[in-house]
Amino acid sequence: MTPQLQELYEVVLRRNPGEQEFHQAVLEVFESLAPVARKYPEFAQTKILERLCEPERQIIFRVPWVNDRGEVEINRGFRVEFSSVLGPYKGGLRFHPTVYLGTIKFLGFEQTFKNALTGMPIGGGKGGSDFDPKGRSDREVMTFCQSFMTELYRHIGEYTDVPAGDIGVGAREIGFLFGQYKRITNRYESGVLTGKGLGWGGSLVRKEATGYGAVFFGDEMLHARGDSFDGKRVVVSGSGNVAIYAAEKAQQLGATVVACSDSGGYVVDDAGLDLDLLKAVKEVERGRISSYADRRAGASFVADGSIWNIECDIALPCATENELDDQAAITLVKNGVQAVVEGANMPSTPAATRIFLDADVLFAPGKAANAGGVATSALEMQQNASRDRWTHEYTEERLAGIMRGIHERCAASADEYGAPGNYIVGANTSSFVQLAEATFALGVI
Ligand code: NDP
Repeated sequence: MTPQLQELYEVVLRRNPGEQEFHQAVLEVFESLAPVARKYPEFAQTKILERLCEPERQIIFRVPWVNDRGEVEINRGFRVEFSSVLGPYKGGLRFHPTVYLGTIKFLGFEQTFKNALTGMPIGGGKGGSDFDPKGRSDREVMTFCQSFMTELYRHIGEYTDVPAGDIGVGAREIGFLFGQYKRITNRYESGVLTGKGLGWGGSLVRKEATGYGAVFFGDEMLHARGDSFDGKRVVVSGSGNVAIYAAEKAQQLGATVVACSDSGGYVVDDAGLDLDLLKAVKEVERGRISSYADRRAGASFVADGSIWNIECDIALPCATENELDDQAAITLVKNGVQAVVEGANMPSTPAATRIFLDADVLFAPGKAANAGGVATSALEMQQNASRDRWTHEYTEERLAGIMRGIHERCAASADEYGAPGNYIVGANTSSFVQLAEATFALGVI
């Protein structure tokens, strides 16, 4: 980092105390930017980076609702609208008990760079709540979502801010949120939320897009080294939306996915995950991963320990931030891992990332590798705007093309800024230049 970037980073620390994940996300970007700062002195003169680190708007609100026992519960809702220089704010909502402002700011910051990388006209934002949907009835989830939207609706819109899902928010929650938005505004404004159900404005392939996109990106990286997913042993962490469809695409490309997890432990299935069973357990029953092992001959469940102790050629962390630390990285490298593709947002700690890069492991950062989800959300918005519906085949082809484009942009930018093969530098420099040029062009706003 240059002294100017270091100074600016210290300002970010001071202005955002206690928001460790946000600091981490900002530092990772700053560490890539020294050569860009030298090439474009005008960006520093107009304080582009300072502006990109300060969200355009941050909304925090009370979410009161009544549970099934008739008790009042109070949660906290967030929407951080980071940057709209490239398009309306776009980014998911996370419902998880660990959510606080720092989580949403880190996710919104990452999202802004990710969305720029897609090359599509979408700005960056993120939102959510410390509400925990786990163990709640459908009625409780609906009541919560309705209360959440009763405040959020005034801040969003097709041309303003377009939320989607993330951890704890899938098609069920998007349905309740969309229903309440429609009721309050008296508008069938399909483009206000993405990740909708297929019968009411959703897009084919959106559900699969983040996981499929991560594997498409990984495949591009492997091809650049004359390799592929075919015949590889793969470990996927998590067993939610991203993990399931990353596993599905990896298996379609000839890999064997031998493990997945949830916050209660992990499952090992050396024959390769039975994805129909996994979907039945996680998507239909909303059950725990341990019940997959109970019903699958040859599979075992491990309640303690790290999924990253399992030997694999390719690791796909698809659960949550900082789930893969330096110890896990050392073990993976020792066991011969060849590629790490982040399906989740910032799942590897900075120390783990350094270990992979030093060991010449192919490393795909989340903001590039998991951009297929938001890119397909933008395709959903296109279909909504044109009152059209595309086929599965066409939409998946568009997704694959977008992921190829992101890979090419990252690789070219890494070369240009003197770090060939480093997709972190490639992703950060490429997206920053695009955001900075637009921010510069729009004046001091
Ligand atoms: P889901 O809620 O569908 O699944 C999350 C999975 O991760 C679950 O298996 C969950 O286990 C596990 N998990 C969550 N928190 C923890 C934790 N603290 N410790 C261990 N395991 C945990 O979420 P998604 O699949 O949608 O999201 C996964 C990741 O991908 C997140 O980082 C998200 O930000 C990112 N992402 C998602 C996109 C999308 O389109 N959905 C787009 C781009 C990125 P359990 O059920 O036990 O909590």
